[in-house]
Amino acid sequence: MTDAVVVGSGPNGLAAAVTLATAGVTVRVLEAADTIGGGVRSSELTVPGLLHDECSGFHPLAVDTAFSRSVDLAAHGLTWRWPEVQYSHPLDGGRGAAAFRSVDDTADGLGVDGQAWRRLFGPLVDRFDRIAEDFLQPMLHVPSNPFALARFGLRAAPSVQLLASRMSTPEARALWAGAGAHAMRPFGQPLSAAIGAALATAAHRYGWPVAEGGSQAIATAMRSVIEAHGGTIETGVRVESLDELGTPDLTVLDVAPGAVVRMAGKRLPARVARAYRRYRHGPGAFKVEYAVVGGVPWSHEPTRRAGTVHVIGDFEETAAAEQAVHRGRMPERPFVLLGQQSLADPGRANGDVHPIYAYAHTPHGWTGDATEAITGQVERFAPGFRDRIVATHVRSTTDMSVHNPNYVGGDIVTGANTPWQLVFRPRVALDPYATGIPGVYLCSAATPPGAGAHGMCGFHAARSALDWLGRR
Ligand SMILES: Cc1cc2nc3c(=O)[nH]c(=O)nc-3n(C[C@H](O)[C@H](O)[C@H](O)COP(=O)(O)OP(=O)(O)OC[C@H]3O[C@@H](n4cnc5c(N)ncnc54)[C@H](O)[C@@H]3O)c2cc1C
Repeated sequence: MTDAVVVGSGPNGLAAAVTLATAGVTVRVLEAADTIGGGVRSSELTVPGLLHDECSGFHPLAVDTAFSRSVDLAAHGLTWRWPEVQYSHPLDGGRGAAAFRSVDDTADGLGVDGQAWRRLFGPLVDRFDRIAEDFLQPMLHVPSNPFALARFGLRAAPSVQLLASRMSTPEARALWAGAGAHAMRPFGQPLSAAIGAALATAAHRYGWPVAEGGSQAIATAMRSVIEAHGGTIETGVRVESLDELGTPDLTVLDVAPGAVVRMAGKRLPARVARAYRRYRHGPGAFKVEYAVVGGVPWSHEPTRRAGTVHVIGDFEETAAAEQAVHRGRMPERPFVLLGQQSLADPGRANGDVHPIYAYAHTPHGWTGDATEAITGQVERFAPGFRDRIVATHVRSTTDMSVHNPNYVGGDIVTGANTPWQLVFRPRVALDPYATGIPGVYLCSAATPPGAGAHGMCGFHAARSALDWLGRR
């Protein structure tokens, strides 16, 4: 019987294992950490009874994908929960903007820019199922929906800056800036709008949901499927070399490209090794978990109901902070992404004490302490926040790379979203999952479609491996 070893149990490693196991392959997953999940782990990091998402918190691109449709994760315990406001962006003076599931409700709150928001996102939302089908796979493929994809490209291919020029109010421009900052790129870079446009459109189409019981529930559901098909998962096993794995028919690696070079040694074709060595990692993140009595006292009322909050100020401040990080300088007032997961999933709170998740974008490999900068940014838009904090847990940019070797230099998205790497990752190849070693595949977020806890890299890598088996 065909057997496979999957190294790494992030959402992509697990999705690859699920896809192989459900195709009848005997799967063994090896994970370096003591718990499975990689970027979808959750635990009580501050006080008992408070469940914090250690990495991924919100999952707009995981709800409806080719992978999610291929396996019934709900039957294995995964339930999505939506906040009332999907994401929001407070500004000074209690002003701000909020994104709802409905484009119209969002546009209604944006004054004279409501029409621009409707014109930009309305048509994309209507076609997003078809767009996402193409967007969530390698760029080098024959699109199933060329016209929908081309329309998305026309709207999203420009820079974050260029799309912002269609809006005039600080509120609408800030709301767009917050979505655009997820690419962790300078706002003037070509294609920098692609990720923000996909996430903002997904907010209207699928929402930005959390997993009930913490993001860990995503990994737990996948483990349940793998085990139901006879697969096994071993934790605490760090694989240093492919030679340790014996001779499985298939090997699927949920690791960074640089790690493949080390693990494969001379087995890796020289041109692939060169490409993997050239693969670029992006900025880092510095994360603080807070236990907060009564939640965050935002001045901007809709922000009190938002799952995700982009905490930074107006468009220009956001652009300047992202530019500074790109140049290797930590801004005094960084871009902070804050999560209020317990609004959608109250079971994560303990009475009136809520888990609050916050991380700042930092330069790659940054070794400083951003705790005060993050707390200060939240206090700026929520006076009194500081007095409500009963405990904190800090994971620095350096800790991030220790916590998970895929986050090289603290790069939480396993690869810079440069225009080149948005299209060709991890290298230029018709099959970007193939490593050039027969039967050995790469499935981490360094492969298309890139970062996110959607499992689509793992799904495509496993399908590519199954195709190869069929042709062998
Ligand atoms: C702070 C933070 C916030 C995020 N927020 C979001 C969000 O809200 N929404 C979203 O969709 N995404 C988010 N992400 C990104 C998302 O978590 C990642 O893109 C996703 O987890 C990538 O999945 P993966 O399977 O490729 O790798 P990972 O999740 O990084 O998992 C890789 C796994 O492989 C293991 N491993 C590596 N090397 C070895 C080895 N040699 N031997 C054995 N095991 C090994 C690691 O220990 C790890 O468990 C966030 C990430 C972080 C860190």
